[in-house]
Amino acid sequence: MASPDRNPEIRKDAVNNRWVIFSPARARRPSDCKSKSNPNPNNNQSECPFCAGHEHECAPEIFRVPPDSTSNWKIRVIQNLYPALRRDLEPSLTQNPNPNPNTGGSAMIGFGYHDVVIETPVHPIHLSDLSPVEVGEVLLAYKKRIEQLLSHDSIKYVQVFKNHGASAGASMSHSHSQLMALPIVPPTVSARMENMKEYFDQKGKCSLCENPLNDLLIDKSTHFISIVPFAATFPFEMWIIPQEHTSHFHELDGEKAVDLGGLLKLMLIKMSLQLNDPPFNFMIHTSPVEVTPLQLPYSHWFLQIVPQLTGAAGFEMATGCYINPVFPEDAAKVLREVNIIN
Ligand code: AMP
Ligand code: ZN
Ligand code: ZN
Repeated sequence: MASPDRNPEIRKDAVNNRWVIFSPARARRPSDCKSKSNPNPNNNQSECPFCAGHEHECAPEIFRVPPDSTSNWKIRVIQNLYPALRRDLEPSLTQNPNPNPNTGGSAMIGFGYHDVVIETPVHPIHLSDLSPVEVGEVLLAYKKRIEQLLSHDSIKYVQVFKNHGASAGASMSHSHSQLMALPIVPPTVSARMENMKEYFDQKGKCSLCENPLNDLLIDKSTHFISIVPFAATFPFEMWIIPQEHTSHFHELDGEKAVDLGGLLKLMLIKMSLQLNDPPFNFMIHTSPVEVTPLQLPYSHWFLQIVPQLTGAAGFEMATGCYINPVFPEDAAKVLREVNIIN
């Protein structure tokens, strides 16, 4: 780990245009960074609606894998029983946000889709327990659902995310992830596109096609690399990036899904071993539904994994700058060198 004598460094992440303070004074040994508790939300298996046999306790199913309704399912994509946005509202009302003269803000009807992907029928199984082929099937379920959602003209962005563990925001312990289809492009996504454009205009290259520094590399598969980003916002944050320039996650084919499944599984196991099975989130950062030919050369999707080890506090909320106690090259070394005994 970084020596406490090492000077603090302020690094800028070109993709998110965010400054991060790497603070050796706050650097702790990896063991001190390990998650101390992993309280599991709603861990009562007998009352879990996501378990096989409890399908009737869930909101309606959208599809299952395999598709045959008489066979045992491996994955179910269902509607969220408590959706943040509603699919039954009139999407045309989302075309023009109405400015509110009193507040200066604007508002539109809360139309959108909020789905849940149940990754396994078996309660104690986590995503990282599945085989690369099975993780690949979960990724292909995301792809299939995204493609269905894209047929709706009003959908401008689809966010895939996973919360694992109560302090990562999960309310259900049964392994699952979620998709939200939005009638807007969220500001962080438009900003990311702008930042990637700026990098492309300056350097003539896509920011994620650049070869990462060797000491930031964790692993490689046939089609993907995993790194700790140069200006990681969070300690031990990881990015999995397609080696081939690709704008949208849903361009993933069957072979790449298995390859990505294997690398994602490996990263989750490494994180769990080195950091004591921490709560975590992962997010798929894809491009907006509509990408112009001019935007294509710099829009490149990636998957971000964030172990929940430190919370954002006053400084982060006030400034949008984060303090990360672990230098990315030290985090990458810890993750690269973990021994996985098969
Ligand atoms: P999380 O809170 O991240 O663990 O995600 C679990 C999601 O499942 C939440 O958004 C809940 O609204 C949703 N949910 C909980 N119970 C059900 C159910 N019986 N059917 C469908 N969705 C559910
Ligand atoms: Zn369950
Ligand atoms: Zn690229």
